[in-house]
Amino acid sequence: MGDINILIVEDEQRLAELLRKQLEEAGFYAEIAYDGFVGKQLVEKNKYNLIILDINLPLINGYDLCKEIRKTNSQIPIIMLTAFGTPENKIAGFDMGADDYIVKPFDYRELLARVNVFLRRSNSNILTAESKIKIADLEMDLNTKTVTRSNKRIDLTAKESLLLETFLKNKDKLLTRDFIIEKVWGIEFDPNTNIIDVYVNYLRKKIDRDFEPKLIHTKFGFGFYCSESEI
Ligand code: CA
Repeated sequence: MGDINILIVEDEQRLAELLRKQLEEAGFYAEIAYDGFVGKQLVEKNKYNLIILDINLPLINGYDLCKEIRKTNSQIPIIMLTAFGTPENKIAGFDMGADDYIVKPFDYRELLARVNVFLRRSNSNILTAESKIKIADLEMDLNTKTVTRSNKRIDLTAKESLLLETFLKNKDKLLTRDFIIEKVWGIEFDPNTNIIDVYVNYLRKKIDRDFEPKLIHTKFGFGFYCSESEI
């Protein structure tokens, strides 16, 4: 795990230092930027496996920095930290391209669990023998995370990509919300959010809206499934 490099963008020095110490104890490298501008410079200069991003930051706030990073990098997982936990705030973060969201004050173990969800995903790719999954004219390469539909490249965020991968690996099966939450957000995630609906909508916009047949289906009162036809 020694080559996993995490960037912490957080202006509260004590919290940032504590996070770095704890991430290093868990076996990762961690670097800190105390404002959004330095964060932006570091992202442009270095290669990170994951970014932990505060929202309320000097110079460039977390929403803007997230949006900026997504212009050039749709893959890197971004976990936002914030004191504001309203649904509007969460959705604003997701709209800017964040993959996950943690409300302060948080338990460090919760953050580490979510970091591990993303990194486990990277590790499991290495072990995957079958590298491409296809359904209808959609294809996903599990090693590179490249997604195409009708031979058109589709850019997904890290979470959208993990959600799609979960659907594809379980195609033609009904998936409960609990199952999806656990696979995509980790077992400690609060299940009482509409995060799945928000993300399924993002995914549908990208992979289904302009194409036929529709691949992601809702089973009311149960969950979702991925199939070429309705079950
Ligand atoms: Ca702050």
